[in-house]
Amino acid sequence: MKKRIAVLGATGSIGRQTLAVIDADPRLELVAASSATTPLDGIDAQHKAVGGDAIELLERSEPDVVLNAIVGFAGLRATLWTLERGLRLALANKESLVSGGELALEARRRGRGELIPVDSEHSALFQLVEAAGPSTPAGYVLTASGGPFRGWTAERFRSEEITVEEALAHPTWSMGPKITVDSATLANKGLELIEAHFLFGVPYDLIEVVVHPSSIVHAMLRLKDGAALMHVGYPDMRIPISYALNYPERGTQFVPQLDFSQGLALAFEPPDLEAFPLLALAREAGERGGTYPCAFNAANEVAVQAFLEGRIRFAEIAAAVEDVLARVDGSPARDVEELVEEDRRARDLVAVA
Ligand code: MG
Repeated sequence: MKKRIAVLGATGSIGRQTLAVIDADPRLELVAASSATTPLDGIDAQHKAVGGDAIELLERSEPDVVLNAIVGFAGLRATLWTLERGLRLALANKESLVSGGELALEARRRGRGELIPVDSEHSALFQLVEAAGPSTPAGYVLTASGGPFRGWTAERFRSEEITVEEALAHPTWSMGPKITVDSATLANKGLELIEAHFLFGVPYDLIEVVVHPSSIVHAMLRLKDGAALMHVGYPDMRIPISYALNYPERGTQFVPQLDFSQGLALAFEPPDLEAFPLLALAREAGERGGTYPCAFNAANEVAVQAFLEGRIRFAEIAAAVEDVLARVDGSPARDVEELVEEDRRARDLVAVA
């Protein structure tokens, strides 16, 4: 029996790669695809839908697995729906877990849905946790490529102008514009820190971020005897996508095996939190809990959009987020309506022209 897959956000970078994975794998069948922005070609007309219709589309198409690759907070309702229904959620929409982590975990408890991360670092950690067996991990390490401005100091960010094109020139991963800017500011790694906290149910002091420019090591798991496990491979999102769809089986091979004859750079360095303040702000928002992570995400989404539209400078993204975090009260949301309200409040507080 083929697994029935619904793909939300099908025309984005992850969405298109997911369609390619399904196409190449006889064990998988595409039953629905949605896109909020672009018409879908080559997919049965009855399966087309836009943004808000995603839930109705899911109801109708009866998938086994929902791959949620919607961009931003808009992905939350599909995340909750899938977990409530007891289905498998292949989650590429990290923002729904960052903003609505508690609600998502509650939905999973109630509905007994299955949550498999698609984010490459979290997919790697998920696989490492499985590999480690019954031993409780002593630490979770997320790697970051460092983005196009790796090595820049806080002083250089203050004095140099950065164009949208420069911020979108990611050295190792090819992704959509929102996440590419987030990778350049390290806000993406901040979101991933919060995502890891909810996914693996671990406190923030057990989650580290290290800069690893070649993006060969996707994550590491520290064990209590001092050993650490690494998950390695060429950076290609089809691996975590295929893993999440096929789990517990392994997916089709899309990328070559690692070639050691050319040498592999496995260098690591600590992130510069002064030059990349969004990483520290995300950790702080996560540790404060409640709706602080939601406010962090909302403010960042608005500020990134303003940067992409040329309304604010690159360095002002972090300043805008910091300002919002200082002004919200962060009390927990009891349900999705309260969370949506918190999200909207934080967006309204972003002071950009
Ligand atoms: Mg990632």
